[in-house]
Amino acid sequence: MSKSHDTPLMNQYRELKNRYRDGILLFQVGDFYETFYEDARELSRILGIALTSRDKKNPIPLAGVPIHAAETYIARLLAAGKKVVVCDQVEKPSQARGLVRREVTDIITPGTSLSPVALPDNQNNYIASAILVDGICGFAVMDLSTGEFCAAEEHFPVAERMLSGLPVRETILLQECDELVNMISRALPDSAHEPIPGLEFEVREARRLLREQFGSADLSCYGIENKPYATAAAGALLSHVQRLRRQRLEHITGIRLLVPEESLHLDSETLRNLEIFEPLRKDAPVTSLLDHIDRTNTAAGGRELRAWLMRPSRSLRVIEARLDVVEALHAGRALNRRLREMLRGLPDIERLLARITGSKAGPRELLSLADALERMPGIADCCAGLETRLAASTLSELRLSTAASDLVRRSIEPDCPSHLREGGVIRRGFDPDLDKLITDAEEGKRWIASLQDTERTRTGIPSLKVGFNRIFGYYLEVSRIHLDKVPQDYAARQTLVSSQRYVTPELKEREQKILAADERRVELEKSIFARVCEQIALESAVLQRIAKAAAVIDVLASLADLALEMDYCRPEMNESNNLVINAGRHPVVERLAASGFIPNDLILGPHDRQLLIITGPNMGGKSTYIRQAALIAILAHMGSFVPASSASIGIIDRIFTRVGSSDNLARGQSTFLVEMAETARILHGCTSKSLILLDEVGRGTSTLDGLSIAWAVTEHLVEDEGRRPKTLFATHYHELTDLALRNARIHNLKVEVKEWGDSILFLYRIVDGASDRSYGIHVARLAGLPAAVVQRAREILDTLEKEIPAIDTVSVVRRGQLPLFQTPQDPLYERLAKIDPERITPMQALELLTELKNSLQDASG
Ligand code: ATP
Repeated sequence: MSKSHDTPLMNQYRELKNRYRDGILLFQVGDFYETFYEDARELSRILGIALTSRDKKNPIPLAGVPIHAAETYIARLLAAGKKVVVCDQVEKPSQARGLVRREVTDIITPGTSLSPVALPDNQNNYIASAILVDGICGFAVMDLSTGEFCAAEEHFPVAERMLSGLPVRETILLQECDELVNMISRALPDSAHEPIPGLEFEVREARRLLREQFGSADLSCYGIENKPYATAAAGALLSHVQRLRRQRLEHITGIRLLVPEESLHLDSETLRNLEIFEPLRKDAPVTSLLDHIDRTNTAAGGRELRAWLMRPSRSLRVIEARLDVVEALHAGRALNRRLREMLRGLPDIERLLARITGSKAGPRELLSLADALERMPGIADCCAGLETRLAASTLSELRLSTAASDLVRRSIEPDCPSHLREGGVIRRGFDPDLDKLITDAEEGKRWIASLQDTERTRTGIPSLKVGFNRIFGYYLEVSRIHLDKVPQDYAARQTLVSSQRYVTPELKEREQKILAADERRVELEKSIFARVCEQIALESAVLQRIAKAAAVIDVLASLADLALEMDYCRPEMNESNNLVINAGRHPVVERLAASGFIPNDLILGPHDRQLLIITGPNMGGKSTYIRQAALIAILAHMGSFVPASSASIGIIDRIFTRVGSSDNLARGQSTFLVEMAETARILHGCTSKSLILLDEVGRGTSTLDGLSIAWAVTEHLVEDEGRRPKTLFATHYHELTDLALRNARIHNLKVEVKEWGDSILFLYRIVDGASDRSYGIHVARLAGLPAAVVQRAREILDTLEKEIPAIDTVSVVRRGQLPLFQTPQDPLYERLAKIDPERITPMQALELLTELKNSLQDASG
C-alpha cells in the first residue's frame, strides 16, 4: 500500500470501516462527513455529488457532504435502501494529542430512522422479522418512529397475506430459507431483507427479553404467550433493533397480536387495482381514494387513517363504534368544525416521543410535546358532548394525566435555541447547581461591564473601551493619543492602527472564570436535558395512549367532514351475506364527471344475485360500477359513511380484484400468465364472505380459449358450494350472459346507451338484462381512429356478422363441447329459469302462472 493510503487518518478510517462493512461510513473530518473508496463511489452515485480524490499521486476516491446538511443527505441514502454508519469526532481538535479520537455514534437503517426528514409524516415506517417452522410463520413488525410493535403466528399463506402491502422498509430473517425469502419478496417487494447471523432465537430468551422490555411479569396480557414463533420473531426483532440503536427503546411499551380475522383483507393487487393509495397512472387526473378522503389535520391522524384504509375492520362492534362518532360529528357540524380547528397542526406526540427516548430530540421538540399535551384538555372538552361509546373511551384517554408537560415547562426556557451547543436551554430555578454557575458567570460579566467605567475613572481616559474577540478574549482598548496615560498593570496584547489593546491580570482571571462557567454550563445543561428526556421516556405508555386517542378523533372528525361535504350516508352493517347499495357513486370518479355522475343501485346476495354479469359498450361505465361497489364496501368497513343514498352491507372477509392487464414482463411473465395466476389465486382463496371483482377474464388469449375459461370460472364461482363468493363480472363476452338462464345465482346487468345513426350516447345507467353489442367501433371513432380505418372496420364487421353469424357457437358446438348457446334469449325463459319450485308456496305458484300468462298475452299484442 502506498504512503498516502497509510496516513494515521486513513488507518483510523480503515480500522472503523473494517468493523462496519455493510453500511456507508460517514467519517467526520472537520465540518464534513467524508466517505472513501467504494462508499465514496456509492455516495457520489446516489446523491449526485462530485467524486474527487484525497491525493493526486495516489488517488483515494473521496466524496463528502457538509455536516450541517447531513440529515437531508442521510435521508436520501436511506431512501436508496442503504445503511448509514455515522462516525463523529468525539474530542475537540484543540484538546487532542495527535489524531482526533473518532467513534461510531449512530447507525441508521431505512427501517429504523427517527429523522423527520427521512420519514413521511402520514405513513408508518416498519422494520419486520420473520421465521418459518413446519409451515407456520412467526413474524413481528415494529415502527421505531412511533413505538408500534405487533406480532403474529399463522400458516404460511395467511402470514403472507397479513404482511402484504405493509410499509415495511427492511426485514430480518431468523434463518436462511429460500421459501421465506420468496415469501417476503412477494409480500413486501419494497423491503430489503437479510438473514442476521447469530440471530437464531430461542423462545425462552425471547420471552425474557420481551418481559424485561415491557416491565411485566408475563406476556399473557399481550396474547402472545402461546405463540412461540411470534414470540421468537418479536424477541429477535427487539434485540436486533436494541443492538443497532444501542439503547433500551423506552417507548416500545407493549406488543399487539395481529389476528387475520379482525380485518377485511385487501392484497397488494387489490390496493393497486382499486387505486387505494396511488393512482394507477401518475399523470391521470384521478387521485387515489386516500387522497380523496384524507382530511385529517394531524400527522398521527393521517397515519391512523391510512392504517384503517389498509386494513379495514371486520368487527361489527368496532365499525359501529366508529360510525356512531362519525354520525354524531356529522350531525354537529359546528362542533366538528371547532374540533378540527383545535386539532390543526397538533405536534406529532408519537414521533416526538420516539426522538426523545432515542436521544435525538432538541430542546424545541420538548416544547412541542408540551404544547401538544396542553391542547388535549381543550380537545377533550370539545368532544365531551359526544355521547357514544368510542367517544367516551377516547375522552378518558385524552384526559390521562401526565407530568410531562409540567416538567418541560419548568425545565426548558420558552425561547430556547434549537440545539444544546451554547446553553440557554434550561430554565433558571430548575437546577440549583446550574443556577449557581449562571449566577457566577453573570456576576463576572457584570463586573466586566462595569470595568469600562471603573477604568475610565481610574486612568482618566474618556474613550477607553472594553471589548471581546474570540482570539484574545476580553481586552481594554486605548486610542493612540491616550497611550501616555496607560497604567503600569496593563499588559499589551494587540496593536492596531489607531489604538492599542491591553489586558490586566484581574481581567484575565475573571475571563477564565466566565469561560469555564460557560463551558460547564453547556455540559451541565446537556446532562439536565438528558435527565428530563429520561423522565419523559418513563411516561411513554401514557403519552402513546393520549397520542393514539387524538389520532383516532382526528380520523373520525375527518370522516365526518368528508361525509358532510360529499353527501355520504351511514351504511347499515350486518352479518348477512348481502351487499345492497342504493344510488351508489364512485367516490373519486364522481368528482371528475363533468356533466354529473349517474348513481346506480346494486343488489348482491347469496341466492339469485350471487354473481352479476355486467355487459355493455366500451366506455359505458362497467368498471366504474364494479369498482364503486368495492370502494363503498371498503369505506364502510373502515367506519366511514359512503357515497350512496343508502347501503346495507354484510361483513366481507376479503376483496379480490382481477382487473385489466397488469403487465409483468419485467418479471418475465406474459400478461396472460399473470391474469391466469391472479384468477387461480382468487378461486383458491375466496370464501362465501368474499367480494370478487372480475373486469374481463381470458382476454389475453384466443377468443374461444378466453371465453371457455371465463365460462368455466363463472360456473365454478357459483357452483363451488363451500365458497360461492359475491362476484361482479364485467365482460365483453356477451355469450356469458346465457349462463344466467342456466343458473339461478347468476344475474345479468347491462349498461344503457342511446343509439342513433352512427352515434351512441352513454347513459351510465346500469339496468337488468344482457347487452349483445360492444360498440367498439363507435368508441374507436370517438378515440380518433382515422375515418378510413373506422369505415373499413365497419365493413368488416358487417361481413363477419352476415357470413359467420355465430362464429363461437358454431365452432364450440361443432367440437362437441358444451351446448352453450342453445337456450333462447327470451325474458320469459329467463324468468322461468329463476323459479325455484322448492322455495315458493302453492299460492305464489298460482300468482306466477297468472303473471307469466299475462306477459305472454302482452308480448303477443
Ligand atoms: P371498457 O369496457 O372500455 O373498459 P367501461 O365500461 O369499463 O369501459 P368505465 O371505464 O367504467 O367504462 O367508464 C368510462 C368513463 O365513463 C369513466 O372514466 C367516467 O368518466 C365515465 N363514467 C363511468 N360511470 C359513470 C357514471 N355512473 N356517471 C358518469 N360518468 C361515468
